Amino acid sequence: MGKLKSSLAFLVLAFAFFLCFIMSTGSYDYFQFVQQWPPTNCRVRTKCSNPRPLQYFTIHGLWPSNYSNPKMPSNCIGSQFNESRVYPYLRPKLKISWPDVESGNDTKFWEGEWNKHGTCSERILNQMQYFQRSQAMWKSHNISEILKNASIVPHPTQTWTYSDIVSPIKTATKKTPLLRCKYDKKTQLLYEVVFCYGYNALKHIDCNRTAGCRNQQAISFQ
Ligand code: 5GP
Repeated sequence: MGKLKSSLAFLVLAFAFFLCFIMSTGSYDYFQFVQQWPPTNCRVRTKCSNPRPLQYFTIHGLWPSNYSNPKMPSNCIGSQFNESRVYPYLRPKLKISWPDVESGNDTKFWEGEWNKHGTCSERILNQMQYFQRSQAMWKSHNISEILKNASIVPHPTQTWTYSDIVSPIKTATKKTPLLRCKYDKKTQLLYEVVFCYGYNALKHIDCNRTAGCRNQQAISFQ
């Protein structure tokens, strides 16, 4: 009986360790590839080093995510950011596609995104692949151009509905994106456009509508 109890305790303990291991190394369902509209970021936070923020969508991050909680996993156990693993040829490209629009410290921004998000999908994308894939995703669809072709351009007073903005992106990419907004007083400002990718970060898939811009409120793009 004593032996049975101790083997049971051992099994429970082993299972708990296994669960902890899975959680700390990151278990996720899909990727969110998040691009931001820099002027909105700089409008809602007071400190942006760039006085005239870039007028094109830039990368915020590539985030392995769970359907049950898209903000998880994060800060997993894995290799910490190593600048030399961002290929020299990729660096000038990332400076354009993935700049730190808040304080201008691009490398620090990449480090933060890798440590918080990239570590959770390291089994699928190592550090070099993580940045290469992100760059390729950014290159594959130019959101600013897609919106411009649909006459959705920054304007101080004009507003759009959620579907006005999603429609041309969906037509161009054949997949449903997710829109995220920030709020300045009562104005709902377009902030992020999210593309979703499958577990291997290869297949572009439809995003679920979770915690996006409010449907019933007009969206400003300034
Ligand atoms: P996450 O940490 O989940 O990737 O995203 C949230 C954080 O990213 C926020 O704290 C937000 O301020 C930050 N963020 C968004 N854009 C930028 C940027 O261009 N530079 C820096 N340093 N942080 C950013």
